[in-house]
Amino acid sequence: MLVAVLTYLLLWGRLVPYSPLIVGFERKTLERANIYYHGGQILPESIDSIGEFMTQLETLHTLSYQRKVDVLFCASEDEERRFGGTTVRVITYPPYGRILISEKLRRESCAGDKPFADFLKHELTHALIDQNISVYRLLRFFPEWLNEGLAVYSANQFGRGGYCKREEVIVLLRQGLFYKPEWFVGPFRRTPKEAAAFPVEDRMYFAYSEYGMIVDDLIKTYGKDKFQSYLHTLLKTGSPEEVFQQSFGLPFDQYLEAFKARIVDSTAESKAL
Ligand SMILES: [Zn+2]
Repeated sequence: MLVAVLTYLLLWGRLVPYSPLIVGFERKTLERANIYYHGGQILPESIDSIGEFMTQLETLHTLSYQRKVDVLFCASEDEERRFGGTTVRVITYPPYGRILISEKLRRESCAGDKPFADFLKHELTHALIDQNISVYRLLRFFPEWLNEGLAVYSANQFGRGGYCKREEVIVLLRQGLFYKPEWFVGPFRRTPKEAAAFPVEDRMYFAYSEYGMIVDDLIKTYGKDKFQSYLHTLLKTGSPEEVFQQSFGLPFDQYLEAFKARIVDSTAESKAL
């Protein structure tokens, strides 16, 4: 009985994102990725550039994918819920960095309403991290804000596909609104009360862009090498606070105050945008 239940979950149910075998899909085999889809689904054109995007991200972060990336185009919300327990637009699962794309995003992308390449680069950034960290470290020590900030920064999503523009984040930070990194707990945990009351309509789009700007600021302020050393160390060892302090020479809290001050005072930066 247990074997039957496990087999069902691995092939058709909640364990599909983690299963070594993927059944019930058509498969398109590319050099660096396998694309799973259902007959009749038209795929967004930029899916064919996935290998190129992967190479760009490897160069950007000096990390390598450890295996091919699997991308699954779900047929419906029901299928997505059955596999992932959620119906978000797109989601990436450790440990393989397997990407589940909703039928909604596929349709929006084919209609030209969402920039598919950006969404794909975002998820490929998560996949790159997933393939270079243990699941234990990812869940226990890799901050959610960093995971999302890195993905938004890497895909340069500021002001695109629903994500806030840099200028919009600057305006709100000047009003004293700041979506604290510690408030972002990922899709499966409850959002803290303070965060739920954050007075911005699309608070996730705001938070993601803000976190992307933190990554950008860390790179601009301390240099690419220090940021990379922080990221690479965090994939292997230490707590986020310790690694932050060692890499940048100040506690994360103190850095955040300096970040806010830099953004609020940055007349040059907002002009440049
Ligand atoms: Zn993400």
